[in-house]
Amino acid sequence: MRVLDTAALLHWPVSELTGNICATSQQAELERVSPQRWMLVQAIDIEWRDVNEQWLDKARECAARSGDLPRLSDVDLDVLALALSLDLELVTDDYRLQNTMNAAGKVSQSVGTAGAQHVWKWELRCTGCRISLDVAEDVSRSRKGDVGECERCGSPLVLKKKR
Ligand SMILES: [Zn+2]
Repeated sequence: MRVLDTAALLHWPVSELTGNICATSQQAELERVSPQRWMLVQAIDIEWRDVNEQWLDKARECAARSGDLPRLSDVDLDVLALALSLDLELVTDDYRLQNTMNAAGKVSQSVGTAGAQHVWKWELRCTGCRISLDVAEDVSRSRKGDVGECERCGSPLVLKKKR
């Protein structure tokens, strides 16, 4: 169970979001940034938490100490407050949040890195003979399609998410 910032809500596969914690204030933010994504996210089991004043004070205090407070948004502070007060890992690409977590001696992970460990498993599949091949992680980030031809039958290979 981890606290996810809005970048994770936007970029992780929906199935990977299940069971994690977010701040209630992120709902409006997500809806604003991506109404479609918000619709998907509503359908799954995320623990939406309100942040009380005491937790917010703690978050402000930590962010002030690391010098990041002036540049954090209200939603950022909510997310930070959850991670600090529930003592959970924070998944965020915001370096100010990462820096505050770090300064407080807490763990954070970037959205890409955290996702890579738990999410991105790909394979190459032949569109002809259906053979599957393993791919290196970095191949998965190359552009779609055009990943070569099957050595067995010469048909194009496609990148598929591994089941
Ligand atoms: Zn083939």
